[in-house]
Amino acid sequence: MAKDRLAGVLERYEAVIGLEIHTELTSLNSKMFCGCPVAFGGEPNTRVCPVCLGMPGALPVPNEAAVEATVLAGLALDCEIARFSQFHRKNYFYPDMPKNYQISQYDLPFCTNGRLDVEVGEGDAAYVTRIGITRIHLEEDTGKMIHVGGAEGRIAGADFSLVDFNRAGTPLIELVTEPDIRTPEEARRFAQTLRTIFLALGISDCSMEEGSMRVDANVSIRPRGASEFGTKAEVKNMNSFKALHDALAYEIVRQADLLDSGGRVVQETRHWDAGAKRTSALRSKEEAHDYRYFPEPDMVPFEFTDEWIESVRAKLPELPAARRDRYVSDLGLPKQDARLIADDVALSRFFEAAVQAAGASRAKPVANWVLGELSAHLNATGAAVDECGVSPAMLAELVVLVDDGVISGKQAKEVFAEMVVTGEMPGAIVERKGMRQVSDEAAIEAAVRKVLDENPAEVSSYRAGKTGLVGWFVGQVMREMRGQANPAVVNEVVRRLLEQ
Ligand code: ADP
Ligand code: ZN
Ligand code: MG
Repeated sequence: MAKDRLAGVLERYEAVIGLEIHTELTSLNSKMFCGCPVAFGGEPNTRVCPVCLGMPGALPVPNEAAVEATVLAGLALDCEIARFSQFHRKNYFYPDMPKNYQISQYDLPFCTNGRLDVEVGEGDAAYVTRIGITRIHLEEDTGKMIHVGGAEGRIAGADFSLVDFNRAGTPLIELVTEPDIRTPEEARRFAQTLRTIFLALGISDCSMEEGSMRVDANVSIRPRGASEFGTKAEVKNMNSFKALHDALAYEIVRQADLLDSGGRVVQETRHWDAGAKRTSALRSKEEAHDYRYFPEPDMVPFEFTDEWIESVRAKLPELPAARRDRYVSDLGLPKQDARLIADDVALSRFFEAAVQAAGASRAKPVANWVLGELSAHLNATGAAVDECGVSPAMLAELVVLVDDGVISGKQAKEVFAEMVVTGEMPGAIVERKGMRQVSDEAAIEAAVRKVLDENPAEVSSYRAGKTGLVGWFVGQVMREMRGQANPAVVNEVVRRLLEQ
């Protein structure tokens, strides 16, 4: 129902959406300004030191790998990279931030003015929309508050609150988009596409559930045809792509209802409640001057040379969109299949190794197995593809056995189920179980003759013009041969003998 309301609202109003996405650089070994390890969870306050606890006199030293990862992200998104840049202090008080300021970037971010082309929708309704990237900057994450007792662990009404600084000082990149997004679905696709890129860059595990990728959405509406933007609200606390979509859909309808009833949208921060499926006001929005930004005096500015920037560019891996295009043009995969594989770095690596072993001409059946049985196996077991018990060589051998007509597709599924358990190569399983598919024409012809002799009525019907019966005959022969016959040969022999 909410979906229909959204469609109705979007006929009269246009939504304007800009995203602010925080991503922890979880793949780094150490925090942003100290040597403490970066990891999720752990015994509270065990991954801390005087620097990330904000002790007086402790001095920050920037993590070079984090600076490089930020610039890598900027280059992947066609940003301009600053030649001169620096950190600023963003001053505010909150118990999860021990220094009472966050080291962040203000008017001199590392990356500006980028873009990401996002594919939205499927089939005939598919289109590409270009979303501008305003900036990407580097900062440090805060610690975490844990509210105990009271209402649902919310701070209001909690009996007491605890603070854990393990996360404090984790390198965090903030990406801000231009207000170029027009629908909740475009917002979702932007975030998903960005995630596949960051995963390909290997800079973060991008977990929405664990909070290593956090998406805040700014949204306003305006009457269709209007040129001025409406007043925006910022929505926080969406921890899945679905939540991002649903929160925006809710917020667009809420704002339309407000305007339709003669009210006004207030600029504020709102909280998405996934249980109640609604947003509620959290606080009125801070202005930049509330933060009293000033240059971080304990660190010198950065001056990036062209050589250094080019040395980072040289580390750019193949990105998912380029990989997908390559699978379509070089390997002949359907676009949708190509994307499903290319979006996943580990799956792509597996797929390419299997294609290498099976031969490029067999890329399509390899893709079918990767997206079919293999993905089902990964989903069922929760295993990562590199440790799921099936190697690219095993899958390639299986595809070749089917392609060469040694076993049927049906037998191949049995072999797959078996090799997942035993870890044997498919060829060995086929030998051990005597599963070889019968392609020997003489044996098949004998079985076909038997079936024809036993079913004279059907033979007459066929010869009288009911040629659709051919499939039925093939089925009977396959059963006669316990599924071990080569279906292509059976088909051919059945037709030949029926036509005699
Ligand atoms: P603020 O000064 O409130 O932080 P910014 O101009 O820095 O606002 O923009 C913050 C985010 O909000 C950006 O992602 C931007 O694209 C988006 N944004 C700006 N104006 C609007 C608007 N009227 N409606 C929706 N999103 C907007
Ligand atoms: Zn530390
Ligand atoms: Mg701003």
